[in-house]
Amino acid sequence: MSLAIRWYGASSTGAPLIYAGARLRRRCRRPRARLLAAATRRHPDGRGTVPRAPPRRPGRRRARRGAHRGRADGPARPRRFDLVVGADGLHSNVRRLAFGEEARFVRHLGMYVAVFTADNVLGLDNWQVWLRNDTAGAGVYTARDNAELRVNVGFMSGPLDYDRGDLHAQRTLVADRVAGLGWEIPRLLTAMWHATDFYFDAMAQIAMDTWSRGRVTLLADAGYCASPMSGQGTSLALVGAYVLAEELARGIEGAFARYEARMRPFAELNQALATENPGFPAAEESIERAEHAIRL
Ligand SMILES: Cc1cc2nc3c(=O)[nH]c(=O)nc-3n(C[C@H](O)[C@H](O)[C@H](O)COP(=O)(O)OP(=O)(O)OC[C@H]3O[C@@H](n4cnc5c(N)ncnc54)[C@H](O)[C@@H]3O)c2cc1C
Repeated sequence: MSLAIRWYGASSTGAPLIYAGARLRRRCRRPRARLLAAATRRHPDGRGTVPRAPPRRPGRRRARRGAHRGRADGPARPRRFDLVVGADGLHSNVRRLAFGEEARFVRHLGMYVAVFTADNVLGLDNWQVWLRNDTAGAGVYTARDNAELRVNVGFMSGPLDYDRGDLHAQRTLVADRVAGLGWEIPRLLTAMWHATDFYFDAMAQIAMDTWSRGRVTLLADAGYCASPMSGQGTSLALVGAYVLAEELARGIEGAFARYEARMRPFAELNQALATENPGFPAAEESIERAEHAIRL
């Protein structure tokens, strides 16, 4: 079998953004299989099609003449793959294309969070500080040998309608909602406006009846996001990838069903950690049960 694992990225218009590939070869009686973690267009027979790797940037001579420029920037020609694995996170494009709009699967947890880096203006020494009021909260801790602070701020809210591409609007929203926390938060928020690692999103989970359709399957946050509130998203991603790879190695036929049968109880128990005790950590027994809900 030749197992080609390629990672593709594409904008929602289909224009490729990134490409990095690796090819693994080993002898096997199974038919040829190709795995993709990809943005993909749905094919009527369930096969995914993805853009080709972006062409090299045109050389200076070509660029001057303008040759191929349109092609480099425009949508790439679709390609066919035997299997498609969507590992593209909470807002998965693969899921949208293969299963439908995110709203059908998202379970909003009533909270938004922002994370960014600030200089350690508080002089914290291997220390963390957490505070909250009725509607907002913050957690600040040191990183990189106390040189930096990781600032986490969050606020309670139902689903908000905002532009995920408009960082200025998101920063404004965060500043409005958490400034009332007091303490040093207003001072730390000044760093938010310049932080290059600013992150903002809803606390949300993904709940689906099935993670696979035809030859497309979903992995980790794309299919069963547990939210940062579970503290288990990375474990779900790593274990999910391991189980999926193991089942594919056992045989392509039925691999997605076996992957889901093994992973689903583990995923659901870990998702429950985020919801069983809203606003507070889950019970120790629940954490223990969730962590041991799968054998590898
Ligand atoms: C603030 C925060 C704190 C967290 N804390 C913890 C914790 O303490 N413990 C824990 O276990 N987990 C934690 N998590 C959760 C954990 O980070 C995720 O569950 C995990 O990263 C999921 O991995 P993933 O590969 O499914 O998705 P992601 O890590 O989101 O990776 C998806 C990738 O796909 C890429 N992508 C998406 N769309 C496209 C596209 N169209 N083209 C190209 N690329 C695309 C993205 O850029 C990204 O690199 C936290 C998450 C957040 C946000």
